[in-house]
Amino acid sequence: MSLEQLDDKLYVLNGGCMCGNTLFYIADGGVVMVDTKVAGQGDAILEQLRTVTDKPVAMIINTHTHFDHTGSNGEFGAVERIVTHENARRSLTKDSCSPVTNCEAFRGDTAQYLPNVTFSDTESLMVGSDRIDLFYFGPGHTDGDAWIVFPDIRVAMGGDLFGAKGVPFIDTENGGTAIEYDETIARAVAGLENVDTVISGHVQAYPWDDLVRYAEFHARLEEHILAGREAGKTPEQVTSEFSLPEHLNDFGFAEPFATNFVRLMFEEAAR
Ligand SMILES: [Zn+2]
Repeated sequence: MSLEQLDDKLYVLNGGCMCGNTLFYIADGGVVMVDTKVAGQGDAILEQLRTVTDKPVAMIINTHTHFDHTGSNGEFGAVERIVTHENARRSLTKDSCSPVTNCEAFRGDTAQYLPNVTFSDTESLMVGSDRIDLFYFGPGHTDGDAWIVFPDIRVAMGGDLFGAKGVPFIDTENGGTAIEYDETIARAVAGLENVDTVISGHVQAYPWDDLVRYAEFHARLEEHILAGREAGKTPEQVTSEFSLPEHLNDFGFAEPFATNFVRLMFEEAAR
């Protein structure tokens, strides 16, 4: 794992376990931790946290349901508030689910580490005198992808909705959608204000303009896929024919997700 300081108050802990990024926001009322990687990483995460602060973990925020973002929720002792979008909590409390959802991790005694604070649209939470803003802009990667904004330092995180600069995995079991993805990202671009830096779910922090260009990437991708479908092409043809203009060449359209994304959009367009 490597710990990167983005600001006096914010650290990104990435790498180490093929996990999602974990954030430490050092609020005056304690540490706000965003995402907890896979199960079994709690001690390693705490070891990194203790190199920068002795404050207790006051709040965990899960960007979404997946095992690589909620896995170590129960490894920090009692945390007063564990926060997520209401649809992500619903996914985590399913009677049965595929492993990616991580519902099996929150049975019996460990149910106490399920999120206990949820939001539906927008919400502001205080940790001491520090404010954290939460937003939901619609379905994409799942139907419960939360956006977290730290307004005092102008930083946002959107979990795996902006997981990397490329075509995303779509979790259809949990309400993910290819055909609405571009609109959801466009709503985020329109709805997030006063943000200079956007931290991706799995890679690094990017300047705000990269999220704006990510919205354009998705708009172009959808236009290309739907035009190909109209023209009677197969998903494989449409996948192989996609190309990006120069100013978007830092975005990737590659397997294992590219053909699946195209196939799913074909299916959704036919409904
Ligand atoms: Zn995910």
